[in-house]
Amino acid sequence: MAQVVLNQLEKIYAGSRKGSDFRAVKKIDLTVEDKEFMVLVGPSGCGKSTTLRMIAGLEEITDGTISIDDQLVNDVAPKDRDIAMVFQSYALYPHMTVFENMAFGLKLRKYSKEEIERRVNEAAQVLGLETMLQRKPKALSGGQRQRVAVGRAIVRQPKVFLFDEPLSNLDAKMRVSMRAEISKLHERLQATMIYVTHDQVEAMTMGDRICVMNDGEIMQIDEPLNIYNRPANLFVASFIGSPAMNLFKGATVFKEGGPVFEETNETGNGFSIPLDGDLGEKVKNLDGKAVVLGIRPEHTRMLESESEPTVAVVTAKIELSEPMGSETLVYLDTGANSFIVKERGHVKLSNDLYVSVAIDPEKVHLFDRATGEAI
Ligand code: ATP
Repeated sequence: MAQVVLNQLEKIYAGSRKGSDFRAVKKIDLTVEDKEFMVLVGPSGCGKSTTLRMIAGLEEITDGTISIDDQLVNDVAPKDRDIAMVFQSYALYPHMTVFENMAFGLKLRKYSKEEIERRVNEAAQVLGLETMLQRKPKALSGGQRQRVAVGRAIVRQPKVFLFDEPLSNLDAKMRVSMRAEISKLHERLQATMIYVTHDQVEAMTMGDRICVMNDGEIMQIDEPLNIYNRPANLFVASFIGSPAMNLFKGATVFKEGGPVFEETNETGNGFSIPLDGDLGEKVKNLDGKAVVLGIRPEHTRMLESESEPTVAVVTAKIELSEPMGSETLVYLDTGANSFIVKERGHVKLSNDLYVSVAIDPEKVHLFDRATGEAI
């Protein structure tokens, strides 16, 4: 059982910013279950690497506790924590061969020659490195170097694998294939893995669960699709999803037919959307509440003709359209707001044209404007 539990974990860098202390990680609680693939994701500087480095023992803990496998490890040296970390920079020894790089940690731990050979050969086979064992790192591609770095972690057979942005130095195509390889590896090794990235696609595709961080705090922990479909707050809503969720300021207002969202903007000609189902239920005591409405670009569509029957329509001017092949991103401006529509296929559109856009009322998200929390 290799469960990792962070309890009220805090990191303060003393005197780091203009002489004042800086709270990089603010009393976070996180439980990574045995065999789970947990992704820590968030913008640059949110504290994800600091959190990972504290788990590894490379960074001193200011307050709180870390337990691995039910054992408190706050004061356990990194080498005794039974973890292996893969870094963005690969951190390979340039003068050693691939075999020696992978064997190094085992030699230090005084494993027998036979055991070292067995483990290195096995890892090389898993990672497709069998024919490269005698090469030096400089004779490898970026992807192959990263595989050696992963191999060095595998041979240790640790309880927990920690990955710190391991794919950031690879080109886009190699990133996609390494992403799949690491996911397969997780399935095969059945190990607990904690993976730090700022790339939301990596988070969505690799994680059993995702922990979204911002400004030293945890914003939401959940399975990828729940994070996407039910973001807990405005931060998660706008961070996860590409292009980002469209946001409109407004208020919940009660009309004869039931609650509606009414957009408020300086042009005075905002749109309105009926709030049915669950959302209608949730806002029933919130007449006049200041809210933000969120709608993902794929849940909007441009109308073929003005007369098409629909309940929620926004009129806007096309600023730009970006054909992506399988879809076209259309950037629109209402005069008060900019937003994006994702149209299927290749759509040819002229800039400056006024169009009507329908918003699917069943797909809207509402957030409290004061707190940013989802309603
Ligand atoms: P990135 O993706 O850019 O690495 P991150 O989310 O991993 O970002 P951290 O590296 O954990 O962020 O850093 C969190 C904050 O702590 C940042 O504002 C950073 O400037 C600060 N920080 C990190 N290391 C130190 C240090 N040794 N001394 C002072 N401040 C630090």
